[in-house]
Amino acid sequence: MRRRAETIPTPEEVEIFIAGAVHTLASRTARAAAGIFIEGGNPSCKGKCIPVTGEQSQYAAELFTALEATKMTHRDTILTITSTQTHVMEAMNKKLPGWELEGWVGVKHRDVLRCLAAELKARRARTTFKTAVPASPEKARCLKASILAKQSARNRVEERWDLTLPPNTALPGMRLQGNRQRVFYRSIREIKDRNLTPRPSTLKMLDVVRKDVEFAFGRYVTDADIWLALTARDLLPRTAQFLWKGLHKAHRIGNYWNHIPECGDRAICQECGVLEDLEHILIRCTSPGQSIIWQATETLWREKEEEWPLVSLGTVLGCCLAEFRDEKGKAKQGTQRLYRILMSESAYLIWKLRNERVISRDGTPATDEEIKNRWKYHINQRLQVDMTLARRPRLGKRPALAPLLVLTTWSRILDNEQSLPADWLREARVLVGSRAFPQARPRRHRSQGIG
Ligand SMILES: [Zn+2]
Repeated sequence: MRRRAETIPTPEEVEIFIAGAVHTLASRTARAAAGIFIEGGNPSCKGKCIPVTGEQSQYAAELFTALEATKMTHRDTILTITSTQTHVMEAMNKKLPGWELEGWVGVKHRDVLRCLAAELKARRARTTFKTAVPASPEKARCLKASILAKQSARNRVEERWDLTLPPNTALPGMRLQGNRQRVFYRSIREIKDRNLTPRPSTLKMLDVVRKDVEFAFGRYVTDADIWLALTARDLLPRTAQFLWKGLHKAHRIGNYWNHIPECGDRAICQECGVLEDLEHILIRCTSPGQSIIWQATETLWREKEEEWPLVSLGTVLGCCLAEFRDEKGKAKQGTQRLYRILMSESAYLIWKLRNERVISRDGTPATDEEIKNRWKYHINQRLQVDMTLARRPRLGKRPALAPLLVLTTWSRILDNEQSLPADWLREARVLVGSRAFPQARPRRHRSQGIG
């Protein structure tokens, strides 16, 4: 009963205003906190950091705030929980029955959600969730809760959260009747995944990506962000697979061969005489390929944007995490998309050229002209796919890819763009890439000419 010692015994009805907030330090490790505000100078108004082991987001913080509000109120007191967000209300009113039916399989933040649902069931009085409308007194009170949350997130004081479920409130397991096969399968997968230990080489690569993305784009990314970025629709399946294998260090290069008898020489780059890992192939190798391709990519990119982010292994593997914003701080969708396409396609082409050189050409590299043509072909293929998807209606409805997104992605880098109409999606010959290779001025030979 000690857990209930701090509950609010009176009055018979109470309205608690809740908010979640996230604070990011210079080291960019985010910290989220819950904020609670009650009108009338109530001593229970406070901010509290959420457990550091979970996701640090405003959504997670709101869930913990609702839990704290429920726990601190006496079970016989009518409770109204008011927030500016609708997350908690939707979770408890709409999604809860489905989650319970499926045994909480695959539900994010299920520990706190489950505890909140159990606490609500344990209450004897009514509980109402309310959303504060803009410019209302409720909104102002939620703002006060948000200020308390921000202060706590800034102070980063470790707090203890008790997520024990009250007895006889939660349904154990999942229902066998009325559930889908895929839910059972996911449940089995979750149990098996709990026993898996992460691969050390994968963890190392994730750190490389995190560090390089932070350096190049000034944003801190979590492991989940990195994996999620690989599912971006802007990547073709083959390039996504190449990046995914790169993150796992699963390519058969470098140290892979050191563990196989009589194959140790394959670990070394025949051109440079050093260990041939993915970073060497993509960024450092002196064999013709990577430098020409990155130079072309940079030249083309500078037609659109002034700054060309540093090319590193981390920015290649995390190309979908790049952020480009305008003066108002709004994300430039087209620019971000072009960066993803150029980086992933260029890196994949370098990889293909390396494989051809080592495996099928017996160490003979492609000529500069061939590399340039292959790169132009690759990028133009992507442009053609984009154009086709943007002009083809899907079942008579909208096109598969937003036409405006395609136009903003490729604008300012097309060949002869001045002669094209503003909407060039249905034009017959739209090409890209010629401007990536500035024509060298023809030398005038003194011996030529008359005389
Ligand atoms: Zn090399």
